[in-house]
Amino acid sequence: MKNVCLIGSTGSIGLQTLEVLNSFKEYHVKALSSGYNVTLLRQQIRDFKPKYAAALKEDPFISKEFPDVNFFFGEAGIEEMVEACGADVVVNASSGSSGLKYSISALGNAKRLCLANKETIVCGGELFQRFLKKYKTELIPVDSEHSALFQLLKGDVAPEKIMITASGGSLRDYPLDKMGNASLNEVLKHPTWSMGKRITIDSATMVNKGLELIEAYYLFGYKNKNILIYINRSSMVHAGVIYPDGVMKFHIGKNDMKIPISYSLSYPERKVHSYKNILTSADMKLEEIDYQKYPSLKLARDILGDSVKQIVFNASDEVAVKAFEKKVINFGDIFHVISNTIDSVNTKKPESFEDIMEIDKMSRIKANEEVEKLK
Ligand code: NDP
Ligand code: MG
Repeated sequence: MKNVCLIGSTGSIGLQTLEVLNSFKEYHVKALSSGYNVTLLRQQIRDFKPKYAAALKEDPFISKEFPDVNFFFGEAGIEEMVEACGADVVVNASSGSSGLKYSISALGNAKRLCLANKETIVCGGELFQRFLKKYKTELIPVDSEHSALFQLLKGDVAPEKIMITASGGSLRDYPLDKMGNASLNEVLKHPTWSMGKRITIDSATMVNKGLELIEAYYLFGYKNKNILIYINRSSMVHAGVIYPDGVMKFHIGKNDMKIPISYSLSYPERKVHSYKNILTSADMKLEEIDYQKYPSLKLARDILGDSVKQIVFNASDEVAVKAFEKKVINFGDIFHVISNTIDSVNTKKPESFEDIMEIDKMSRIKANEEVEKLK
């Protein structure tokens, strides 16, 4: 029996993880954490009977309702729960830069970290990689492109280049001059994936692909010029590798996050959660990216490897996306908020996780100032 601690259980990846765990009989949900959705957390506690549970918001009644469960509250409480629950596997499916803290708590305390929270890698940068090497905890990526690369890079001579794909997001067929004013409803209609709100908006700007470029850079150690990105409209070609002799290998599979979630839990085994033959139905065509349409991805390329700017890139996007959701700024303004915030934050390289959180905080203040200017 493997004990699992799931952070972000009430989100898109969290819910799919629970669905997978429900069908994996030899896994037990020992700990669960929501953010603010304690109504759903209550239901999950009833269904999965964990020994430990946590939420961002303190709930004075929940302990009395579930006297057998140990409760923790707030971000510090979630960190404490990860450290105390004694899980074999921690699945980090929380969103945002605070996910870095939970990943750090998992290192050294669990045997495996199944990582969906890409902010851990983007904000953690070299520091997190150094920390990871110090501990025996193995990191298995959940992000579909990185799960694919993790699989493609197993047990072979090193390819010269790696490649990840993008769907192009909800506005991929919009004319360039109409994109800036696209409505929230239009942006939230993702053509191939069903995901949380921020990542759906980030797919339309390709900030998500920018975050994934940074993720690939740190996880697999390839140079900027050797990480290629193409559009695959079906999202069934997830990634590829290219050898010096020009031979390529691709990772192709259904666009279903439950597949990389299952793989991260059961690796090196492949537990079948779902199977569909897509050999004749998958559109495998790759298309060049028009960087004029996706300036945020170009920006991510320009700042790759700069630990300060990467933190600012992520934090300012979170602020800009929230402002767009509230209809305070236009879709096209998201890029300007990120770009202007990157230009306005000048500070030295982070030397500790506290420094990272400080830069994150400072970036949010500056990004909010940029939003104010656009009002
Ligand atoms: P959602 O917004 O759907 O879910 C986020 C989860 O994290 C919720 O359970 C939320 O709680 C919780 N949460 C939010 N803030 C905090 C916090 N400060 N501390 C603890 N928990 C928090 O996001 P997704 O599931 O879409 O994405 C999760 C992560 O996985 C992101 O990093 C994303 O980039 C990555 N990812 C997602 C994919 C997808 O298909 N959705 C694909 C690949 C990667 P509550 O709702 O209760 O407030
Ligand atoms: Mg992805």
